[in-house]
Amino acid sequence: MDELLEEILAECKPFTSQGALASYIPELAKADPNSLGIYLVSSDGRINRAGDYHKPFTIQSIVKPILLLQALMDNGVDYVRSRVGVEATGKPFDAINYTEQALLSDHINPMVNMGAIAICTMISGKSYEEKFDRLLELTRLLAENNEVCLDEDVYLSEKRSGSKNRALAYLLKTYGIIQDDVEEVLDCYFRACSIRVDCADLARIGFTLASHGKSLSTGERIFPAAYASYVNAILMTCGMYDGSGDFAVKVGVPAKSGVGGGIMAVVPTRMGIGIFSPALDEKGNSVAGIRALEILSKKLYLSIF
Ligand code: GLU
Repeated sequence: MDELLEEILAECKPFTSQGALASYIPELAKADPNSLGIYLVSSDGRINRAGDYHKPFTIQSIVKPILLLQALMDNGVDYVRSRVGVEATGKPFDAINYTEQALLSDHINPMVNMGAIAICTMISGKSYEEKFDRLLELTRLLAENNEVCLDEDVYLSEKRSGSKNRALAYLLKTYGIIQDDVEEVLDCYFRACSIRVDCADLARIGFTLASHGKSLSTGERIFPAAYASYVNAILMTCGMYDGSGDFAVKVGVPAKSGVGGGIMAVVPTRMGIGIFSPALDEKGNSVAGIRALEILSKKLYLSIF
């Protein structure tokens, strides 16, 4: 299997030059565009990896399913569903979509920025610092890695350059979808996006969703199976930005990408996959990462369809 992964990465390497690094968060533009790594964790305990699987990068939008999980664990499905919808927007993750019509919770979902910012307010905690600390703890638990921490430089870069997210958060406040202080909520969101991970972390987090809530090493339940079903369904329809339909056709598994170049893929009951390659297509998905998943899905019959 390691050989197969090496072959796939060799085939996909040329695609790293077809994308562009995210530069709207200046710190992300410092990444090496040629990086490409993959890590697989299978339900029989096997681990396979190739390339730059150990290189760190920020989780960015891949934190959105973890935010959603934390909100579900703190509030249950009914409450979360009543505050943030589940329909694909078909629009970019940071689209403003402002019309004279009122913004309703059903117009957003947890995988676009507005939805994720609203989800931050649903995490239990006396302060936004405590909310973030609980999210970081959950991320460490799912990744089975206590070293997972905040990338301070990316966080500050994102906070400085986050005008569009500020606009989105103020719209949420205007329409009563959030009530809390906008800067505090955003600070939690910016920190969440700036958690530093590698492919192994993403694969292990993905594995907990693939195993419907069970820990990889102990088999103990970390969260209810119903929450995995909820998160995986939303990943399937909304996880790959406005390229989710195309990804469903070509790869066919729940997945989430981030503008840091990571992709976490969930193969229900079988596998968690972490991929990193920071050159992105115009939608924000890793070009080489998607190509690698496409090939892997065909070779290993991963599509759930
Ligand atoms: N922190 C990024 C933002 O809010 C996350 C975007 C992404 O990875 O999709 O713009």
